[in-house]
Amino acid sequence: MRITSLWEVFYLGGKMVTTFTVDEEFKKIVDALEKNNVATPEDYLYILNNITTENRQYLSNVASSMKEKYYGKDVYIRGIVEFSNYCKQNCLYCGIRKDNKNVNRYRLTHQEIIDACKKGYNLGYRTFVLQSGEDPYFTDDRMIAIIKEIRNLYDDVAITLSLGEKSKDSYRKYFKAGANRYLLRHETANRELYSSLHENMTFQSRKNCLQDLREIGYQVGAGFMVGSPGQNKRDLVDDLLFLKELEPHMVGIGPYLTHEQTPLKGASNGSLIDTLVMLSLVRLILPKVLLPATTAVGTIDDYGREQALLAGCNVVMPNISPMEVRKKYELYENKICVDDQPEHCRFCIEGRVKRTGNRLNMSRGDYIDFMNL
Ligand code: SAH
Repeated sequence: MRITSLWEVFYLGGKMVTTFTVDEEFKKIVDALEKNNVATPEDYLYILNNITTENRQYLSNVASSMKEKYYGKDVYIRGIVEFSNYCKQNCLYCGIRKDNKNVNRYRLTHQEIIDACKKGYNLGYRTFVLQSGEDPYFTDDRMIAIIKEIRNLYDDVAITLSLGEKSKDSYRKYFKAGANRYLLRHETANRELYSSLHENMTFQSRKNCLQDLREIGYQVGAGFMVGSPGQNKRDLVDDLLFLKELEPHMVGIGPYLTHEQTPLKGASNGSLIDTLVMLSLVRLILPKVLLPATTAVGTIDDYGREQALLAGCNVVMPNISPMEVRKKYELYENKICVDDQPEHCRFCIEGRVKRTGNRLNMSRGDYIDFMNL
């Protein structure tokens, strides 16, 4: 069921009819965004400061039509294999950070990773996302062997990597071995906030990695968390400006979610509404972007992913990791689907997509300019 953008409230007496509509300024900005795909920082801020139900619904509908203009009703599916929770980094928000001594660490073997992909392939997946902490065990040689084997097995799949920061040389070798896409969220475009959330890491280095990936020829994914501790609306505007300049092919956005075993425990979760608004804005500034309804959105609300799909998203990424390890890849608490078999996730997600009026597209689902290359 779709909610309309106008919300009419009729007083019972019938004398007074109050109609709440989208505010004029808000509508003007969204309509201009639809046309030009860019707005001023002040306009973005106006949107973020004026989120009423009606305004948000309007924004959502415009973003959803924009998605349909390029991708129709199609929603692409990726199978994600979380193959190691070892990490040498210490991101303050992340449950698998190096200093969390309570993590039950695991790494899948080469064969287990291949088997997870085979299982995924048989379920119809044609994109595999290999994600992990920054685990030094997975040297370039080991990663290349995995990528090559997947590529030799299947020439009709996309291989997406999400391994964190590497040298340009490593990125190049993975690309040559057969990887096509790389996800590396920029996390926040505010340098100071970035430094306060990441021990011994800099925004500049993140940015350089994204630039390297793009130069090599990957389809590149950036993205950020909404509501991370210390973030304000102006920072979210900076994320939009940064993304508009970078023009990534994919953008991953989810609410910040707390984890008891991190230094940021006690900070509250990001908001679903703010996340949905940011998703819609990203759809409008980067119309062709591949935009996942992320697991974090599904974690903060049972129907978060459906709402994200109605707000301009066009990708879903169910987990295809083996059951034994799912719970251990705990970036944040209460992560969904950790007890579900890959078969279950595949069909659960299909139902969710259908109920939004969209349909699953099982093809590789490349960025539109890369299709048929
Ligand atoms: N090591 C890889 C993968 C990181 S995990 C890399 O550096 O890219 C994938 C994403 O999960 C991160 O980019 C981050 O945005 C998100 N994440 C981590 N901890 C989170 C938390 N507590 N709440 C919400 N999202 C989180």
